[in-house]
Amino acid sequence: MDLPDFPVEGGCQCGVVRYRLLASPLSVYNCHCKDCQRFSGAAWSISMPVESDRLEHLSGTLASYDKIADSGRGISMQFCVHCHGWLWNRPQASPALVMLRAGSLDSLNWAVPVGNIWTDSKVAWVDIDPALVNMPGQPASREPLYDAWTELTGKDRP
Ligand SMILES: [Zn+2]
Ligand SMILES: [Zn+2]
Repeated sequence: MDLPDFPVEGGCQCGVVRYRLLASPLSVYNCHCKDCQRFSGAAWSISMPVESDRLEHLSGTLASYDKIADSGRGISMQFCVHCHGWLWNRPQASPALVMLRAGSLDSLNWAVPVGNIWTDSKVAWVDIDPALVNMPGQPASREPLYDAWTELTGKDRP
């Protein structure tokens, strides 16, 4: 898998919020939790953990919705204040991480998911590739997902 030349950019539907991703994320995987199903309106959302200092918020005001996630941990979900597009989550327990919603990238052709989390709550008609890194609920550690991404992209951890 060839990574793009970073930085790459993304933003919300109306274009008010724009951001720049300065380096490769730590991983890319599908989240099948009920929160992601509700907020995305789809069967899963594509989650992309990035180090906070690799994500540059360029423009637009964010609205926050703080909640307790299915994992029991507090998260701050962040949206464009104008079009309400879902951009990223900030896990309150891990301030060094931002969980970017990959669909907000201008191009996500390179963002190939290496695994699935919360497969216990996946939709019945979704098939999970057993060759990927799959976890029934919230991962106790994201290291296996990070390692699979590093292996796929052939790059050392940024
Ligand atoms: Zn917007
Ligand atoms: Zn989720």
